[in-house]
Amino acid sequence: MGFTILPICTNCGYKTKSIAIGGGRLNHHTECGAPALNTESNEIEEINLYEYTKTTIIKKKFLYFFSKSISIVTKNEKYIPYYEPSMFTDDLEIGNHNWGNKCYKKSKNFCPKCKSYSIDFLDEGIWFD
Ligand SMILES: [Zn+2]
Repeated sequence: MGFTILPICTNCGYKTKSIAIGGGRLNHHTECGAPALNTESNEIEEINLYEYTKTTIIKKKFLYFFSKSISIVTKNEKYIPYYEPSMFTDDLEIGNHNWGNKCYKKSKNFCPKCKSYSIDFLDEGIWFD
């Protein structure tokens, strides 16, 4: 069962709609939600980690066989998931949201609007099935 979080910046007030982490009982083999920064629109969005991983593999194949095929590379590298170490301040005092082997900091995440590490991932307490 997944759960939802609500990103909100304690510095500038930026927030997004709630983001699902993980997947439900019926779709957990194909859906695994995660917060990620869209570097083109400069917004925090929900991505599907299964698609994210899959496209990374395709990208490597393309690079190996066709070294000049970059359209797929560009399209998928616009997202940076929030489990990447560059997206939060590592502070052991701060709790994590865990899903599988991924964890997300409950606060001190990178804010794309004010460029500070001030985003809290509020626990919405909503578990979905
Ligand atoms: Zn901010």
